[in-house]
Amino acid sequence: MKRNHIAGEWVDGATAADNINPSDTRDVVGLYARADAGQAAEAIAAAHAAQPLWAASTPQQRFDALDAVGSEILARRDELGDLLAREEGKTLAEAVGEVVRAGQIFKFFAGETLRAGGELLASTRPGLSVEITREPVGVVGIITPWNFPIAIPAWKIAPALAHGNAVVFKPAENVPASAWALAEILSRANLPAGTFNLVMGRGRDVGEALLNDARVSAVTFTGSEATGRKVAQACIGRRGPMAKFQLEMGGKNPLVVLDDADLDVAVNCAIHGAFFSTGQRCTASSRLIVTEGIHDRFVAAMVERMKTLVVGDARDARTSIGPVVDAVQLQQDTDYIDIGRREGARLAFGGDVRETVDGKPGFYLQPALFVDTHNGMRINREEIFGPVASVIRVRDAEAALATANDTEFGLSSGVCTTSLKLAAHFKRHLQAGMVMVNAPTAGVDPHVPFGGRKGSSHGPREQGRHAAEFYTTVKTTYVAP
Ligand code: ADP
Repeated sequence: MKRNHIAGEWVDGATAADNINPSDTRDVVGLYARADAGQAAEAIAAAHAAQPLWAASTPQQRFDALDAVGSEILARRDELGDLLAREEGKTLAEAVGEVVRAGQIFKFFAGETLRAGGELLASTRPGLSVEITREPVGVVGIITPWNFPIAIPAWKIAPALAHGNAVVFKPAENVPASAWALAEILSRANLPAGTFNLVMGRGRDVGEALLNDARVSAVTFTGSEATGRKVAQACIGRRGPMAKFQLEMGGKNPLVVLDDADLDVAVNCAIHGAFFSTGQRCTASSRLIVTEGIHDRFVAAMVERMKTLVVGDARDARTSIGPVVDAVQLQQDTDYIDIGRREGARLAFGGDVRETVDGKPGFYLQPALFVDTHNGMRINREEIFGPVASVIRVRDAEAALATANDTEFGLSSGVCTTSLKLAAHFKRHLQAGMVMVNAPTAGVDPHVPFGGRKGSSHGPREQGRHAAEFYTTVKTTYVAP
């Protein structure tokens, strides 16, 4: 059994659970410990005790630790990618890519430790000077979802440690293997015992324990909107000081295809953005907003491309679309396909469930494309989180922009056009944290800010230099001679 890591020790959970391969449900990836609230409290206590030691480390010590973690992740990309594909179901190529990104993130934040600095300003009062410095926030609780089992933990753990915080990390219940592998690497990084703790377990046990404990100064969460709201309420409503919190939640990301778009570019962006990683990305393109002049050609080309997508075992080299992560998510996807049909949308392609592929029982769903949809339908308002996309036909570029922005979310967005003028107009007016011009809405760099607006996000951006906003607190010091 793979155990939790608390106060520098590997410890059994209160219970344990099997980790099941979604490409072949007969394959058990492993047995993983599940902590209860009491063990979460032990991890918090350990982190609280260790944090001052880690905060007192030199930038070189932090650099060396994070750089070594990044190097090991990169060196083991194939092995860790295989494990990730096996537990989560994205294709091997996607999984290896995710592992590489996790390694790059640790390398980036290793560098950040050496670049950290402050500001020195003259005071408005004679003789005084003002220093502005950043300090760690303390103990950071990290709660992550299943769709990026190593990259999201990396982009929260690496900046937390780089900026001198201690960490209690709770991964999603159904993908503990990548989290455990990452924790095992971190356990050998020469951090003071208790600086990094892994507490696998359920949201309502371990997750809530993190939110309610006043020794946790900050909580960073990625997951569903409903849980995100609970996290926010708990961080404010708990006894003692409120926790600082950062939420990354859903998306209903638009990809706009204008009449003058290069058709191949538009289809590539749509296929990649909507269906790769089985559509299970918060940045997935779920609304394909297409102007009249290119609509029919775009739909025909999409259907032709979709016929070439191979749904199968995530670790089979022929596979382009892996399985859905589990039975619960598959049910949600097929429920939304039924809802779309009942709302009057027409399925131009796909949507069939396959109970086996090559004799392997798994959660296989053929990517689905709805046409004849409008932006008021539930399939265009609510996040589905599967390989299901809708085409929304609009009159012209202005109608496309208005439709793109008519959503409660605002994470990513995209436009396909060959016009500089239209590209500039959309870059300026799309209401989203990220805008992609002739590029898929999903797929982002590891060294620049990530995050959204409106219902998609709350709090400062993640990744890149901007991560410091969440993982540090600012001190203003006045010095008289
Ligand atoms: P999804 O499973 O769709 O990604 P969730 O929001 O359910 O989204 O889960 C995201 C993370 O939040 C998981 O690690 C989950 O265990 C955790 N979680 C779920 N419920 C709670 C809760 N009440 N308090 C804290 N964390 C929770």
